[in-house]
Amino acid sequence: MNYDFFAPRQIHFGWDRFQEVGTLAASLGTRALIISGSRSLESNGVLEELQSLLSRAGITSEHIRTISHEPEVKDVDHVTNILQHHSHGAGDFLIGIGGGSGIDLAKACSAMITNRESETVLDYLEGVGQGLQLTEEPLPLMAIPTTAGTGSEATKNAVISSYAPAFKKSLRSPEMIPDLILCDPKLACSVPPEITARTGMDAITQLLESYISSRAQPLPQALSLQGLKLAIPALPLAVEDGSSRTARENMAHAALLSGIALANSGLGMAHGVAPPLGTHCRIPHGLACAVMLPVTLRANRSVCETQYAEIARHLDPGLTLSDAEAADAFIDQIQALNDQIGIPRTLSELGVTPEQIPDLVAGSRGNSMRGNPREIPDEELTQILQGLL
Ligand code: NAD
Repeated sequence: MNYDFFAPRQIHFGWDRFQEVGTLAASLGTRALIISGSRSLESNGVLEELQSLLSRAGITSEHIRTISHEPEVKDVDHVTNILQHHSHGAGDFLIGIGGGSGIDLAKACSAMITNRESETVLDYLEGVGQGLQLTEEPLPLMAIPTTAGTGSEATKNAVISSYAPAFKKSLRSPEMIPDLILCDPKLACSVPPEITARTGMDAITQLLESYISSRAQPLPQALSLQGLKLAIPALPLAVEDGSSRTARENMAHAALLSGIALANSGLGMAHGVAPPLGTHCRIPHGLACAVMLPVTLRANRSVCETQYAEIARHLDPGLTLSDAEAADAFIDQIQALNDQIGIPRTLSELGVTPEQIPDLVAGSRGNSMRGNPREIPDEELTQILQGLL
């Protein structure tokens, strides 16, 4: 056995623990620069409450920016410039509050504000620009997730999009794991059912893909099993009743575990195809992963039968099926879950056309696809995607 395991330094998890944000933030600095990832957090008073709780703990704060879309190169460059004008240096730290989009923007800006070899994040992204490395420590960062999906609060990368040219790439460094995670599942109660469904399936996809990845490791696998046992029954409940404390707690915990798992073990085909589905077809990340998950499980079945059976038995210890039967039953269970929560079965329902397939195949060859448990040649991936039209 031989592995490296990276994990967040501080995780504070629990219902209504948002109230502790001031006390927790005091360990990071005296002045908070806030980046948020949803207009709902402005309209439902969460941002106002955040600033008031910080103030009561003696921390001054400034709300820098809200985005309600997946962050682009231009967002990171623009917000980094604003931060440079507002930052005073010692005592400053960032708070990223929102879904994966807001947290990723905050993560990228926390790194870019201290690494200024180039004016644009483009030059630091994997495989594009000048290929610069992050050498300086990012500004301290607290991450407060408000969706239960990406686990970005626990990962070492920020995913940044560009639409012309079209790509989605990561800014990545072990130093980018947020210094402090405050995960209050109550914050996700305002997430509408459709977004709950697709972000939740992103977490389930991450738990599954990291479990079967070619880079899978024992510690993340244990986390994935725990996450799947929580998330698979909880997700339909969270979609049906967004105020359910148990469902929101289980989903938030599963998403957090999925972030730790993916950061250590990598992902696979569903997460390989999701970036070009985002940049070429404007499909939100979680939805892209959700539609791709059943077909990814089927494509890997020949090399993952044992792992699927292990997961199926963990979910149902009374299962008496053979490995082959258990693996098939597990894939059917995931398809049924998608159907139950309203995830479409095809990409054509999301507007994808046959003419886009060559770009989707070409755009899918990133870091995630390299974790897939078997190689999927271009011709096979083309056929798989054509089968979803
Ligand atoms: P998101 O952050 O884009 O949010 C989806 C929608 O939910 C937005 O409209 C947002 O306004 C809304 N929303 C967020 N919180 C809300 C709340 N509490 N109440 C009401 N509405 C709320 O979606 P996401 O799926 O969380 O993040 C997607 C992004 O994360 C993508 O860019 C994806 O590539 C990236 N990602 C990053 C990592 C990582 O490790 N860094 C991992 C997976 C995905």
